[in-house]
Amino acid sequence: MDNRSADDRIADLHIHSRYSHDSFLSPRAILRRAEAAGLTCIAITDHGTIRGAVEAKRYVTAVSPEIIVGTEIRTDCGDIIGLGLSDDIRSTAWKDVIREIRSNGGTVILPHPCRDHTNIEEIAPQVDYIECWNARSTPAQNEGAAELARRHARPVVAGSDAHLGSEVGSVRARIGRDSFACRELLAARYATSSEIRRSQVGSCIRQGKWGTLIRGGFSAVARKIRR
Ligand SMILES: [Zn+2]
Repeated sequence: MDNRSADDRIADLHIHSRYSHDSFLSPRAILRRAEAAGLTCIAITDHGTIRGAVEAKRYVTAVSPEIIVGTEIRTDCGDIIGLGLSDDIRSTAWKDVIREIRSNGGTVILPHPCRDHTNIEEIAPQVDYIECWNARSTPAQNEGAAELARRHARPVVAGSDAHLGSEVGSVRARIGRDSFACRELLAARYATSSEIRRSQVGSCIRQGKWGTLIRGGFSAVARKIRR
C-alpha cells in the first residue's frame, strides 16, 4: 500500500554539529549537506545543548530543509533525545530528562537503545519514539532496537547520528507532516569505520586528550571513546 502524500518530509533526525564535543561540522555545512542529500527536514541533536540547531535556523533560506531543534542528553541510563525544544535540558536522571523535555513542549526519543543503555525495558514505554535505525550502530543493535519498539508498541524513527559531513543523510526516512515516525526508509547506509574513527580522534583533540591519542594510537582510541 502506498501511503505517501505531497506533505511528506524526507528526514534525518539525528545529526551533530561542532557544538558537540565529537563533531567539527558547522551548522551551515550541515544545511548545505542536507540540501545536497535531498533532505527536507533535519534534527540537529548536539550533546547537551540546542545551540547547534538554534544557529542553523539563522541560515535557513526558502530552499533549506526544515530544522528541528534538538539535543541528545547523557542520562544515568544512556542517551535520550529531545526534539522541538526551545531551551536546553538541565536534568540528567532519565525520568527527569523525559519530564523536562515534555514540559519544554518537546518530543522524547530513545536513540540506539541497544548500544550503551541500561534499563531500556522501563524507559521504552515512557518515550514517544524509539530510534531503530542508527548508522553508527551495528545491524544487531538496530535489530534489537526494532524488537524493543515492537514489544512496547512504540513508533520508530531513523537517523544517521552524523558527526561528519559525509554522514549527513546516510539514513533518510519518509515521515509525515505531523509525526516523526518512519513511514519508509529511503536510505540506510552504515557509517564506515574510518568515519567513526575520524570523529573519535577529533573528539580527543577537542577535549585535549593528547595522552590517549599518543598512548593508544588512533585505532585503540576508536575502541575506547564512546560514539
Ligand atoms: Zn548522537
